[in-house]
Amino acid sequence: MDLYYKSTRDSNVYVTASEAILAGLAPDGGLFVPEQIPALSVSLGELKKMNYQETAYAVMKQFLTDFTEEELKECIAKAYDVKFDTESIAPLVKVDNTYYLELFHGATIAFKDMALSILPHLLTAAAKKNQADHEIVILTATSGDTGKAAMAGFADVEGTRIIVFYPKDGVSKVQQLQMTTQKGKNVDVVAIHGNFDHAQSGVKAMFEDKELAKELNEKGYQFSSANSINIGRLIPQVAYYVYAYAKLLENDEIEEGEKVDIVVPTGNFGNILAAYYAKRMGLPINKLVCASNENKVLFDFLQTGVYDKNRRFVLTSSPSMDILISSNLERLIYLIAGEDSEKTKALMEALKQNGKYEISDHMREKLSDIIGGYATEEQTADEIKRVYEKTGYVMDTHTAVASYVCNKVYRGDKKCIVASTASPYKFVKSVMTAIDKKYVDTDEFALLETLRDVSGTQMPQAIKDILDAEVIHRTECDVDKMKETVKNILSL
Ligand SMILES: *Cc1c(COP(=O)(O)O)cnc(C)c1O
Repeated sequence: MDLYYKSTRDSNVYVTASEAILAGLAPDGGLFVPEQIPALSVSLGELKKMNYQETAYAVMKQFLTDFTEEELKECIAKAYDVKFDTESIAPLVKVDNTYYLELFHGATIAFKDMALSILPHLLTAAAKKNQADHEIVILTATSGDTGKAAMAGFADVEGTRIIVFYPKDGVSKVQQLQMTTQKGKNVDVVAIHGNFDHAQSGVKAMFEDKELAKELNEKGYQFSSANSINIGRLIPQVAYYVYAYAKLLENDEIEEGEKVDIVVPTGNFGNILAAYYAKRMGLPINKLVCASNENKVLFDFLQTGVYDKNRRFVLTSSPSMDILISSNLERLIYLIAGEDSEKTKALMEALKQNGKYEISDHMREKLSDIIGGYATEEQTADEIKRVYEKTGYVMDTHTAVASYVCNKVYRGDKKCIVASTASPYKFVKSVMTAIDKKYVDTDEFALLETLRDVSGTQMPQAIKDILDAEVIHRTECDVDKMKETVKNILSL
């Protein structure tokens, strides 16, 4: 059966999966959503026997119905290969009584690799399928991890260019170096004098800019997005939740059909939305727990039904979650609004105008599957130290936010999976300082070896790569000069 995609803001939009992936964002500024969330077509017993690639196929074929089996399998094979440092791609590690789903074994050691390893292949396949002859310009805002993962994924991919914007003072040193040293003749990265929300709003504005679209078109370009507003990023992420559940079954940790809780460290709401889709596909999930850092706009929203971004923006030790406008929440709002695009549009307009909206009680009732929790900076650091001292396992700051929420805030009677979204090497300074305050003045790069010794893990290739790489990208711009910068880069 063919599955089509609609816009969250306009019920007249009706496109295929490949068209939705190519466009990134709907013309009305809405996000593409499947007209219905398909059910899993294989049994849990069958899933138990599958490897990662087979699981990814079983999930993705339900959503991306206008791709042939051959196309999808080729995309999957190209994405989930030796770029990952483990054959299982997304290992599930049991520590104490918690299961950490390690999503950081790809090329850039953060969970963004799970989707951005495959998105370039989906996009180029989609372009062929739709006879799109324009060069695709990937425009992306990053809080640190998407940028590098997207640049690595798209570097030297024919028919594409990529331009990334990141907040100059809002990323870790490792993250910044990973981006500024990225090779590839189609790659540009720009540091903006602002925060992630500025970057994301600036990029969204360019997508909605009709005049710019016209100029691009004349020059043979078209925009697409590598942000999680692109449905081509969201769908591949559903796969690892299904895979994790099947691993629990395979390892006899649960009975078939037993419900589990999943805790996700959340920023833009993409990762947790993928878990929500997995639940709606029929995966036995009890609660989805949305874990925030001190930018707890989502926690407050889940408590009160009021989404209010008018608050102080906090720079935390989990910078990839320093976000006040969680763009993927729009997809959930659409679902709980009974797929009413007018209502969704009105709420998103209110967010744009006033930075705030409130959902109805009726909508709130439909949110009962999802609960919120958060960890302060101190609690996050304490969690890293606690788990390390008890078990020897070292986790990164983002994972620690979720681990804290799992172990100290919300602990039901179900088995609990924590999505582990980054390698501790990527946030080495915060991680080592959490373990021992004496490292507070030590150079970030000197701490990499200390972390290796303390954790007994190997230094990831991604880290070795940046240690002596040359900085190639030094462009910076003000928030209101993003469009001009793009025009310069593309010689428009
Ligand atoms: C992007 C990111 C997150 C947040 O994921 P969302 O899908 O934006 O909610 C959490 N942790 C890390 C390490 C990330 O890179």
